[in-house]
Amino acid sequence: MAASWLMGKALSERLRADASERSKRFVASVGRPPALVSLLVGDDAASAAYQRSKGVAAAKAGIAYRAERLAADATTAEVVAAVQALNADAAIDGILVEMPLPRGCDTAAVQAAIDPLRDVDAVTPANLGRLICGMPGPQPATPRAVMALLADAGIALAGVQAVVVGRSKTVGLPVALLLLQADATVSICHSRSRDVAAVSRTADVLVVAVGRPALIGPDGVKPGAVVIDVGTNWVDDDDGGRMVGDVDTAAVADVAGWLTPVPGGVGPVTTACVLVATIELAEHRAGMATASPKAR
Ligand code: NAP
Repeated sequence: MAASWLMGKALSERLRADASERSKRFVASVGRPPALVSLLVGDDAASAAYQRSKGVAAAKAGIAYRAERLAADATTAEVVAAVQALNADAAIDGILVEMPLPRGCDTAAVQAAIDPLRDVDAVTPANLGRLICGMPGPQPATPRAVMALLADAGIALAGVQAVVVGRSKTVGLPVALLLLQADATVSICHSRSRDVAAVSRTADVLVVAVGRPALIGPDGVKPGAVVIDVGTNWVDDDDGGRMVGDVDTAAVADVAGWLTPVPGGVGPVTTACVLVATIELAEHRAGMATASPKAR
């Protein structure tokens, strides 16, 4: 069996086109573009690259974008103060703190400091709580991208066995919640799970979000399963390095029914979801009817 590819390009282009249209409508109504600020603490090269690429995508969608940076040795209090300064700026619609924060910086405290009404990636306890309760509110971008890819491919979720590998508050846990809300039967694996492959091969829909190259091989995949590889890992090779996911793509492609490539699967859709979420927050703050109420 050769898996069909679940490519992110076409979906991300549609979402970006929608974002551009809504940006124009926002400018016409409010007199300024929707505004997004990304705060990066430290010098993590991958985070810096994501911060730059979001800027390019935001500009194309008509979103005003500002990239801010703090030194790697910034204290938790300093990062929280920087977030509070962004909260105090009424012209900002969306605030994003790039992850991971440097060791020693209290991630939970920093995330909790973000104004929930400007919380683009839904990392605040208030917005995670809304997600758990199934209430309208922002959804974290990567989980939203995973669900959008599944919906776009017409993959039915009600009643299916879903397994999520990874339980981070930004990816694994909210993906599991969204799958549960779509009526899948959901299991979650993490670093203390005894036999990940034994669990993952029960999945009709398998989402892997860990950050370990080739964690999931063909023995961890049920024949015909839908496999969403969220992982992004930089590995060295003779050509200077390349990005890979958490799934051994070449081997798993012989077993899975559907498979996302890395790069080119979840990543571009996640970026598009950040743009859409920024506009939704901007519309909500401006009292405009938002075009996709489920995602607010
Ligand atoms: P994270 O916060 O480091 O969480 C990793 C999760 O994986 C944790 O829950 C951890 O378990 C679990 N884990 C670690 N080793 C494991 C193992 N051997 N077996 C099973 N589970 C294991 O990472 P994250 O922020 O969720 O991101 C995960 C990956 O997705 C990373 O590669 C990241 O770069 C990528 N990512 C991609 C996108 C995109 O748009 N494509 C967006 C965000 C993240 P414990 O909880 O027990 O520690």
